[in-house]
Amino acid sequence: MKLSLVVPCYNEEENVNVFYDNIKKNYNKDLDYELIFIDDGSKDETLEKLKELAKLDKKHVKTISFSRNFGKEAAILAGLKEAKGDYVGIIDADMQQDPKIMLEMLDILEKDTYYDSVAAYQKERKENKVISFFKRNFYEIMNSTSSFEIKQGASDFRLFRRAVVDSILLLEEDNRFSKGIFSWVGFHTYYLPYVPNKREHGSTKFNFVKLLTYGVGGIVSFSIKPLKASIIIGMIFSVLFLISFIAFVITTNVIIGLCALILFISTIQFLIMGVICEYLSQIHIQSKNRPIYIIKEKINIK
Ligand code: UDP
Ligand code: MG
Repeated sequence: MKLSLVVPCYNEEENVNVFYDNIKKNYNKDLDYELIFIDDGSKDETLEKLKELAKLDKKHVKTISFSRNFGKEAAILAGLKEAKGDYVGIIDADMQQDPKIMLEMLDILEKDTYYDSVAAYQKERKENKVISFFKRNFYEIMNSTSSFEIKQGASDFRLFRRAVVDSILLLEEDNRFSKGIFSWVGFHTYYLPYVPNKREHGSTKFNFVKLLTYGVGGIVSFSIKPLKASIIIGMIFSVLFLISFIAFVITTNVIIGLCALILFISTIQFLIMGVICEYLSQIHIQSKNRPIYIIKEKINIK
């Protein structure tokens, strides 16, 4: 199998046929590919539509259905596990991500062996200004709190070589933040600018609250820096305590003395919390059970 496309679908009854027809029209008949649709607990007729397609085109269409809505991340994981292709892509079902771009991505990886994956990214965001503001800042926080970089505007519209997919599947953590995982595994990524189309039918499943939860989840699953905040605050308080204590000794002013006492108690509290957070961060890292490293290639070693 050359190419596998993983397509997460949640309430996409009006889009799955449009998506399938587009692939049929634009993909070469000789191309050896599979479409893995994941019905993420849709409440509409998506699954029925997918079953019809699977019956009609046994060669290309595969369907996995979830017992309820587990979210796009879970759907992506299920699809990646099932994919058999040498190249594996992730694409939305709503036609915002043009399937023809996937062929461009395939071409890039076939021609240039330096790259292991292609990630489409939006140069200019067409979305709501508030959401765009939060997203921009989110990537900045994310990049300043973790040891690898996530490109601004990069989506999960991507194509991977088999080796990258196998590495992604080595990460068995429960709280999956795919964009973080894709960057974490490393390899050489080609960033391809693209402009998303308008949604063909239906509406987005990601509202502001869902996006915010997703963002906070992303930071928490990839960074322990927020846990370091207590110890830093504790240190700042200890300096303030020292200053106020010295001021109290010099002035013997009761109010300054009271401030010094409050600062002393706060310092102790934050420092103790800092120590607890230090243990917590180690447990957090260990609980992810991530591989210690990922090998890209071995030379003269079997
Ligand atoms: N999706 C999913 N599970 C969910 C939410 C979304 O599988 O809980 C799918 C959805 O059907 C679509 C893709 O993920 O194929 C992207 O969702 P959407 O278009 O709503 O997001 P947006 O493009 O607005 O970021
Ligand atoms: Mg969409």
